Amino acid sequence: MEQSYQLFVDGEWMDSISKETFKSYNPATGEVNAVVAKGGKEDIDLAVKAARKAFQSGPWAEMAPSDRGRLLNKVAQELWKKADYLAEVETKDNGLPINENKMIAMPSMIDVLEFYAGLANKVQGETLASPPGRFNYTLKEPLGVVGAIIPWNFPLMLAMWKIAPALAAGNTIVLKPAEQTPISLLEMVKIFKKAGIPDGVINVVPGYGSDAGNALSSHPDVDKVAFTGSTSTGKIIMQAASKNLKPVSLELGGKNPNIVFDDANIENAVNGSMFGIYFGQGQVCASGSRLYVQESIYEQFMEAFIDKAQKIKVGNPLDPTTHMGPQVSEQQLERIEHFVKTGVDQGAKLVIGGERAKVDNGNFFTPTVFENVSSDMTIAKEEIFGPVLSVIKFKDEEDALQKANDTLYGLTSGIWTENLKRAHRMVKGLQSGTVYVNTFSMLDSVAPFGGTKQSGFGRELGIQALDMYTQTKNVWMDLNDEHLNWYGV
Ligand code: NAD
Repeated sequence: MEQSYQLFVDGEWMDSISKETFKSYNPATGEVNAVVAKGGKEDIDLAVKAARKAFQSGPWAEMAPSDRGRLLNKVAQELWKKADYLAEVETKDNGLPINENKMIAMPSMIDVLEFYAGLANKVQGETLASPPGRFNYTLKEPLGVVGAIIPWNFPLMLAMWKIAPALAAGNTIVLKPAEQTPISLLEMVKIFKKAGIPDGVINVVPGYGSDAGNALSSHPDVDKVAFTGSTSTGKIIMQAASKNLKPVSLELGGKNPNIVFDDANIENAVNGSMFGIYFGQGQVCASGSRLYVQESIYEQFMEAFIDKAQKIKVGNPLDPTTHMGPQVSEQQLERIEHFVKTGVDQGAKLVIGGERAKVDNGNFFTPTVFENVSSDMTIAKEEIFGPVLSVIKFKDEEDALQKANDTLYGLTSGIWTENLKRAHRMVKGLQSGTVYVNTFSMLDSVAPFGGTKQSGFGRELGIQALDMYTQTKNVWMDLNDEHLNWYGV
């Protein structure tokens, strides 16, 4: 039986004004998961109105920051109880292997909420050095209504990266999930409501990007847009938001270099590099999709890597022994196939994979490795967002840095070396928001995450993310009995 979902606006479930719906599919089976109300511009208007009302008056606006934190912690406690259920809902929606969802995505998502719940009463201004008789200080205030646009690869986790700091700082929020994966977020807001988050504080309007997404990013009464998605959509969103000079934060794509030096622990580097590319079926913005291996260890490293990569089990994502589930959609599968063909046409050597994996009727692809890749090939330059690794040899540090930085993107980089001085030199030289040393794809609530270059700007997570959801107000007070009379008249 197909389930059906409505929009969540002002604490209520409602059909879209147009009464239109769309289908959400299970990428592992091709079956319809649910029929979902398709929000458009008028629905976004209603949600923004509800969020504005909740921001300006009523229980949320009047709540003490400590109580806000306590309430967010209560939501987190409810989320822990439902974590396995949410993991299953999301796995059926986007195909992430259940183990990755239960052991990584869900715990990390709830940890983010707890982290910001703890910061709710620590959003504070400063007393500034003031001239005698004057008092000069700053207030840190919420921005107002946040519009959040979410991708399909980690729907709940990436939504929480925006919900938690926004709400902890006292904002309200309207979220538009990706059209491929609306269900887990709609299930999660039930838990927010049950825990007592006031009406209008969190609103979810599923719909298409060009419609609901565009309405949200260009809405005159939205105070800030937080976006995670592709670089090309990020550019459209920035233009839409510029109409009323709305601040934006953009977490965009990556083509991240992962560099293995000849002094690395080879086994650790092989295991870490595999996780770097195949975690989440390669549908990870932070994935290490360009692997650079030093000439002197190239054969030894690649032999071990290929041996292990061939043992990766592609299959039903609800099976806890599965390593890689399906790609999110047929469209994504075709995109990956196109890149593989381009790699072969441009002269790269396809060593393993490169084809669909035959599992049920789902969108499965095999773990893929290309060797003999050169920096000017499309598969070395463009984000594939699938389990496709491009391997390139390098000579020395200088060569590695030049090749690694030869990209429009700058999200993450990895280095594998036992030489501490080399690690520090590389950390300094690599142009990316995060550098992993002897590890890959690590995340933590405390660690700011975001890009440089065309991977976007702004940082999510960490104390730093609160800056993206607050503004500084400076206050001057004259406490003298005699005030300045500049004109003396
Ligand atoms: P996408 O840009 O197509 O879609 C992301 C979201 O934007 C969806 O909700 C979509 O409906 C919406 N959207 C699309 N067009 C829009 C428009 N014109 N106006 C407003 N909203 C619009 O990206 P995707 O294909 O869903 O996700 C994959 C991409 O996201 C990859 O490039 C990946 O690197 C990137 N990503 C980045 C991060 C990060 O943190 N940097 C995390 C996950 C994914």
